Amino acid sequence: MQWYQLEQRYGSGVYAQKDIALVRGEGTRVWDDQGRVYIDCVGGHGVAVLGHNHPAVVEAVHRQMQRLTICPPSYPNDTRARCMERLGTLVPGLNRVFLANSGTEAVEGAIKFARYSTGRPKIIAAKRGFHGRTLGALSATWNRKYREPFEPLVPEFDHGTFNKLETFEALVDEDTAAVILEVVQGEGGVHPATTEFLQGVQNLVRERGALLIIDEVQTGMGRTGRLFAFQHHGIEPDIVALAKGIAGGFPMGAVLLGPRVKPGKPGIHGSTFGGNPVAAAACLATLEVLQRENLPERAARLGAWFLERLRAIQSPLIREVRGLGLMVGVELRTKVAPYIQALTREGVLALPAGLTVLRFLPPLTISQEELEQVARALERVLP
Ligand code: PLP
Repeated sequence: MQWYQLEQRYGSGVYAQKDIALVRGEGTRVWDDQGRVYIDCVGGHGVAVLGHNHPAVVEAVHRQMQRLTICPPSYPNDTRARCMERLGTLVPGLNRVFLANSGTEAVEGAIKFARYSTGRPKIIAAKRGFHGRTLGALSATWNRKYREPFEPLVPEFDHGTFNKLETFEALVDEDTAAVILEVVQGEGGVHPATTEFLQGVQNLVRERGALLIIDEVQTGMGRTGRLFAFQHHGIEPDIVALAKGIAGGFPMGAVLLGPRVKPGKPGIHGSTFGGNPVAAAACLATLEVLQRENLPERAARLGAWFLERLRAIQSPLIREVRGLGLMVGVELRTKVAPYIQALTREGVLALPAGLTVLRFLPPLTISQEELEQVARALERVLP
């Protein structure tokens, strides 16, 4: 397994790698270096909303790379301007945009805008939440495994209990800049928030002069059946962090800013690669395909079907099946790692969400027949 050995030898050691090397993708499928094909429900950890190598994204990236590859944000650029206009008009009220390159950077930007705007230090996140691995985002992340080796983290972060409003009532005060939440906790085990909780937190932050940051890095771009998952719940976040699927596989992050967020001043934040024209072109193409092909609606329809299909599996190992749209978790009564390996042997890639939850994040273009194949593979590997 030469690629595995090379990456192990020269890598930093921070990834527990699988023993298959993925060398090609097309649509909902990926191929390993032995020519075996897999239905890809990992999707680059939820990035491949359009599937792999979508022709519209490939074409947009190719054309932009031939014209202008990099343009620093200190100079306006036609493609970036169109992308910002598009992102800034997706949701009424969220009209300003900061462009970055990843999810953790989008969260980092969201935290900085919240502190800058309110002049307050505190950020309240949720237990089981995951927001990224740079030091600010890591401070909002809950799991000790990610945090402990890097302590002390950024001061003034605290965590309430997800879906328990009273724990946030006890933490949000006049020093709080923002509450940051996922609408469906992804890495924490695919746990959807209730409308009552999200609306309650929104009322709370409004009352106490703080801001509401929604981290849509994993749930955004149609994944849960709406363009953004918060739209299921009738809330109006002040700041939204985006990444993963935003540019159809090309690295990009974005922060959407609402009217309660004070506009920035030159120099308070920035990014060399943020808003580079190639990412902007990929993002424009991705949004165009998502909307033209009604992919959020497709995710809602197929996701609802897939959830019911998985709930019908009779296995003493399944504790619960839950999710929203095509973000689906199967909680087992045991560790999932051996079942993920067994699924791989059956030609299906899935990922864990914590130790006991199997997670499926397929492209939104996946067919019902392919989802049926995934369900059958799961039936074969579970006792
Ligand atoms: N926020 C959420 C909700 C995520 O799921 C992730 C990654 O899985 C991140 C932030 C961090 O994104 P990235 O890995 O692009 O830095």
